[in-house]
Amino acid sequence: FKTEQFGQHILKNPLVAQGIVDKANLRPTDQVLEVGPGTGNLTMRILEKAKHVTAVEFDPRMAAELTKRVQGKPEQRKLEIIIGDFVKAELPYFDVCISNTPYQISSPLIFRLLSHRPLPRVCILMFQREFALRLVARPSTELWSRLSVNVQLYAKVDLVMNVGKNNFRPAPMVESSVVRVVPKDPPPPVKFEEFDGLGRILFSRRNKTVHGNFMAKGVIDMLEKNWRTWCAETDQMIEDNDTGNSENRAAKMDVDDLLKLLSAFHDIGVHFA
Ligand code: SAM
Repeated sequence: FKTEQFGQHILKNPLVAQGIVDKANLRPTDQVLEVGPGTGNLTMRILEKAKHVTAVEFDPRMAAELTKRVQGKPEQRKLEIIIGDFVKAELPYFDVCISNTPYQISSPLIFRLLSHRPLPRVCILMFQREFALRLVARPSTELWSRLSVNVQLYAKVDLVMNVGKNNFRPAPMVESSVVRVVPKDPPPPVKFEEFDGLGRILFSRRNKTVHGNFMAKGVIDMLEKNWRTWCAETDQMIEDNDTGNSENRAAKMDVDDLLKLLSAFHDIGVHFA
């Protein structure tokens, strides 16, 4: 029951655990955040390289096991365990995040890390393979999606290794992959709700043209309502509505294409949030 609820699949292969930690290129001055340390297979290796680790663990029994593992050792001083849900926990300052967390919290995890300030230098994260492949997808490929653009708006993401299910106990149902996420610092000066609002429309049918998606029922009404609000607030009226991108389609547009389109809409007073 616990395994299902918290995704408690412990990473048993020491080479993989060491590989994950090595990919972070930790510096002796680094403060590290680890989400879901479990029994500490990654934590012990991070402690060897970093100045300090804050580990957020939901399950008190796992936290107790980890505490036992460092007890009486010099590493004990370097480790703080927060018992609680990562999604709600107050996060400390950290330079690097390393995590093999249950896959139920994949989306909240990555977006929370990208909205944390100051931004971490790098995050090394294990995900279900399908999710990882969507994070690193490029335009004109099958997995290019709203998730890909929203994450790539804020970070450079690449795949660092695939990890088969037999490296875990108990073995999960799905394959896993590790990605490296390097946040863009400073982040692009765009309102996320606007960018995501445009993405939501364009990726609802990603092979349809921009023009086609905007003609869909409901979309025009929503935009007109936003536009009227904007006109009223700014006391402006603009008639031109050619954004010059209407024959393109989301499946082929990269983050820059989307940013240009968003900015063209903003120029004519069309908002998505
Ligand atoms: N990192 C360890 C490893 O690699 O062996 C354990 C991995 S296990 C897949 C996930 C861990 O995250 C479990 O210890 C589980 O209790 C913990 N966990 C689950 N949900 C969590 C949450 N919302 N916040 C913090 N920890 C959570």
